[in-house]
Amino acid sequence: MDSDNRGQGRNFGGPREMHDATCTECGQECKVPFKPTDGKPVYCRECFSKKRSF
Ligand SMILES: [Zn+2]
Repeated sequence: MDSDNRGQGRNFGGPREMHDATCTECGQECKVPFKPTDGKPVYCRECFSKKRSF
Protein backbone atom coordinates (compact mmCIF):
# COMPACT_ATOMS: atom_id res chain seq x y z
CA MET A 1 0.00 0.00 0.00
CA ASP A 2 1.41 3.35 -1.03
CA SER A 3 -0.29 5.82 1.22
CA ASP A 4 2.41 8.39 1.89
CA ASN A 5 2.24 11.87 0.46
CA ARG A 6 5.50 11.76 -1.42
CA GLY A 7 5.53 12.94 -5.01
CA GLN A 8 2.37 14.95 -5.03
CA GLY A 9 2.00 16.36 -8.50
CA ARG A 10 4.49 13.87 -9.87
CA ASN A 11 3.79 10.30 -10.68
CA PHE A 12 6.77 8.16 -10.02
CA GLY A 13 6.28 4.54 -10.93
CA GLY A 14 2.69 5.10 -11.98
CA PRO A 15 1.20 5.52 -15.42
CA ARG A 16 2.36 8.73 -17.01
CA GLU A 17 -0.26 11.42 -17.30
CA MET A 18 -0.27 12.89 -20.78
CA HIS A 19 -1.30 16.45 -21.48
CA ASP A 20 -2.66 17.88 -24.67
CA ALA A 21 -0.34 20.40 -26.23
CA THR A 22 0.36 22.07 -29.53
CA CYS A 23 3.78 21.63 -31.02
CA THR A 24 5.65 24.92 -31.20
CA GLU A 25 7.57 23.75 -34.23
CA CYS A 26 4.98 22.25 -36.59
CA GLY A 27 1.75 23.31 -34.86
CA GLN A 28 0.23 19.88 -34.72
CA GLU A 29 -1.55 18.59 -31.65
CA CYS A 30 0.44 16.23 -29.53
CA LYS A 31 0.64 14.75 -26.08
CA VAL A 32 3.40 15.50 -23.67
CA PRO A 33 4.24 13.78 -20.38
CA PHE A 34 4.50 17.13 -18.62
CA LYS A 35 2.15 20.02 -18.17
CA PRO A 36 2.66 22.55 -20.95
CA THR A 37 3.60 25.99 -19.68
CA ASP A 38 2.77 29.25 -21.40
CA GLY A 39 5.80 30.72 -23.07
CA LYS A 40 7.64 27.43 -22.99
CA PRO A 41 8.17 25.67 -26.30
CA VAL A 42 6.53 22.29 -26.67
CA TYR A 43 7.62 19.81 -29.28
CA CYS A 44 5.87 16.76 -30.59
CA ARG A 45 7.71 13.47 -30.72
CA GLU A 46 8.89 14.06 -34.24
CA CYS A 47 10.19 17.59 -33.71
CA PHE A 48 11.70 16.60 -30.40
CA SER A 49 13.75 13.84 -31.96
CA LYS A 50 14.71 16.21 -34.77
CA LYS A 51 15.93 18.75 -32.25
CA ARG A 52 17.89 16.14 -30.38
CA SER A 53 19.59 14.78 -33.43
CA PHE A 54 20.32 18.18 -34.83
ZN1 LIG B 1 6.10 19.05 -34.18
